[in-house]
Amino acid sequence: MKNADRASTPFKLLEWLDCALFLDFDGTLVDLAPTPDAVAVAPGLVDALRVIRDRLDGRLAIVSGRPIAQIDAMLATLTLPMAGVHGMERRDADGMLHYAPVPSFSTVQECALYLATRDPRLRVEQKRGALALHYRQAPELEHLCKAEMLAAIRETPGMLLLHGKMVIEVKPAGVTKGTAIRDFLAEAPFIGSRPVFAGDDTTDEVGFAYVQQAGGLALKVGEGASVARHRIATPQALRAELAHAAHTLSAAMAKMPGKNE
Ligand SMILES: [Mg+2]
Repeated sequence: MKNADRASTPFKLLEWLDCALFLDFDGTLVDLAPTPDAVAVAPGLVDALRVIRDRLDGRLAIVSGRPIAQIDAMLATLTLPMAGVHGMERRDADGMLHYAPVPSFSTVQECALYLATRDPRLRVEQKRGALALHYRQAPELEHLCKAEMLAAIRETPGMLLLHGKMVIEVKPAGVTKGTAIRDFLAEAPFIGSRPVFAGDDTTDEVGFAYVQQAGGLALKVGEGASVARHRIATPQALRAELAHAAHTLSAAMAKMPGKNE
């Protein structure tokens, strides 16, 4: 993860219309907010995603640490193929749900809940087979949270602890955003396409590495060290790129014979 300064050409989705597009959600499609509940989907984003999904013949999926149900609620009328909880749950293009086996990690759960009991500014997100401890409201507790959670995870083989943006994520080591993208790429309509994956945080790095190794493109949103060879400044800039692509594609569709009445 040492190539943060590597120069790269700007990412243009219109140059990748043969790709399979995988998008993280928080910090990538939506701006980060003080709490996970407080994020807002920007006007026009759902419409842009719908146009792009259609133009890519369905090869668009969300790959997030959130549960699928949360993102479904925020995308309202748009139902996409989706990996949730870092790949622990996955909805394929046919709408079928796939669930990875849930490990036992009660020591870690109890540790996080105990910390949150001691300081209500800490927030524990319990997910299926994973957990997130958010300390964005109490950043001075970062060291304490990391130390306590590291001690707990040492007693929990098979689980991985990742430091994200004001959050400590705990998840099974063998299930990642990379394995989720791999599984999508083994199925229609994604199969055979070059993967593009955009993400912003630590848990996206394994996905970046996977798509680059598969001949695709990794797009890091924002600053910070990353294995990704392409970068875009902010979620807002990514949304602008998606909106531009959607607008251009819509205009091209409108000019097609039989589509212009
Ligand atoms: Mg993110």
